[in-house]
Amino acid sequence: MRKVSIFGATGSIGQNTIDLIKRAPEEYEVVALTGARNIEQLAADARALNAQIAVTADDSLLEDLRAALKGSGVIAAAGADAILEAAHRPADWIMSAIVGAAGLAPGMAALGQGSTLALANKESLVCAGKLLLETGRAQGAQILPVDSEHSAVFQALVGEDMNAVERIIITASGGAFRDWPIEDLCDATLDQASSHPNWDMGQRITIDSASMFNKAMEVIETREFFDVAPEQIEVLIHPQSMIHALVGFNDGALMAHVGPPDMRHAIGYALHHPQRRHIPVERLDLAAIGSFEFRAPDDARWPALRIAREVMARGGLAGAVFNAAKETALDGFIAGQLKFTQMSDVVSQVLDRMDAQGGHIDATMTLDNVLETDHLARKAARLAIEQRAG
Ligand code: NDP
Ligand code: MG
Repeated sequence: MRKVSIFGATGSIGQNTIDLIKRAPEEYEVVALTGARNIEQLAADARALNAQIAVTADDSLLEDLRAALKGSGVIAAAGADAILEAAHRPADWIMSAIVGAAGLAPGMAALGQGSTLALANKESLVCAGKLLLETGRAQGAQILPVDSEHSAVFQALVGEDMNAVERIIITASGGAFRDWPIEDLCDATLDQASSHPNWDMGQRITIDSASMFNKAMEVIETREFFDVAPEQIEVLIHPQSMIHALVGFNDGALMAHVGPPDMRHAIGYALHHPQRRHIPVERLDLAAIGSFEFRAPDDARWPALRIAREVMARGGLAGAVFNAAKETALDGFIAGQLKFTQMSDVVSQVLDRMDAQGGHIDATMTLDNVLETDHLARKAARLAIEQRAG
């Protein structure tokens, strides 16, 4: 039996992972499941999968979790340290699907003990890609991409020589506002930004899709994961979300990965790698679909794409500043303190300020420095939000 743990088990990726595991429970021994506020789901899955331990990130919910697990034999724990401790429990395969920079330290811990890391938490790569990849290499631990575009690129590269790769094209649906008049974007509401035309995902990544901060993160993720130059990475608007990515080779060939917008494909690929196994996703009827649409991205509509290029040009810990500022600006938008279009203003401002201050972006990439930079960037972003409100 394979030992598996799922970090962020109660979220959208976590639940899709559990859906696949529940289809063949005899093959898996579940070590740890973690969540935050959704105690009912966490306890139900920990019972159903007979997990060793269930952990909530929220200390104040420990008693609720204990009560929900009473009589099950599953250990209950709470807090960021308990999540880290759970990541140190030996497992063959770990799903990293916590949302936000909070996923970085558990992912590092999992790699540190040699587990295969199925990486949905793109924030880890944006904040500390080199550190994460080096830790994986040093421990002989594999990192498998779960973000659909990166899983698609990974699959298109099987058996290929990276020296023959000219470019990587990741597609973007364009999110909720791809067809809105640009001048209306500043009045976009939380409800409007929280509904995705194609994908059913957590709220934060759905809003990031509307602002294209998600794609900006994914451009940086592509650079880190596949070690290609920024100018080799292109974004293509493809409203149907069926071609997830394309790899262009030096003979002019483009290898495209086509599939339905269902995360169970990418999760299942990472779960069964290097095999391919039956996965219960829709089979596409291309004749019925008829045609695929493509458009060039528009930097005026989505300033996040330009910011991603600036972050890659700055290098160092700019990714950690970018991610922290983006997460804080998103909190500000969700709390009604920022307009939709002000999120990118705040992120740019924080990047400029922290670059001008010196020291932070140039610091050596250690976990402590990344977490410190993350902390300072969040503080700077909160200040920028307050100044706007005031
Ligand atoms: P969700 O918001 O649906 O789930 C997030 C998970 O993280 C939940 O289990 C949540 O617990 C938990 N969590 C929240 N805050 C913390 C914290 N501070 N510490 C520990 N755990 C916490 O997110 P998604 O599943 O959509 O996304 C997860 C990750 O995967 C993100 O990095 C996202 O960018 C990435 N991703 C997601 C895709 C998707 O289709 N959803 C596609 C590609 C990448 P609880 O719910 O119990 O509060
Ligand atoms: Mg994606």
